[in-house]
Amino acid sequence: MALSDYYLCDLCGCKTFYDPEGAYEESFVGDMVVLCVDCAKTHEIKIEPKPTEVRNED
Ligand SMILES: [Zn+2]
Repeated sequence: MALSDYYLCDLCGCKTFYDPEGAYEESFVGDMVVLCVDCAKTHEIKIEPKPTEVRNED
């Protein structure tokens, strides 16, 4: 299987899981971060709300 058939670790770029022809991009995923096994030992993923837009107060 070609390297392009895998979703790559967002930190180091090594392959994480099989994703033929970018199938996940055609799913309902809004955003995704994936760490490989090695990177997950030293890093963590945090989900945070987006910063709110600055509103003009009048
Ligand atoms: Zn990695």
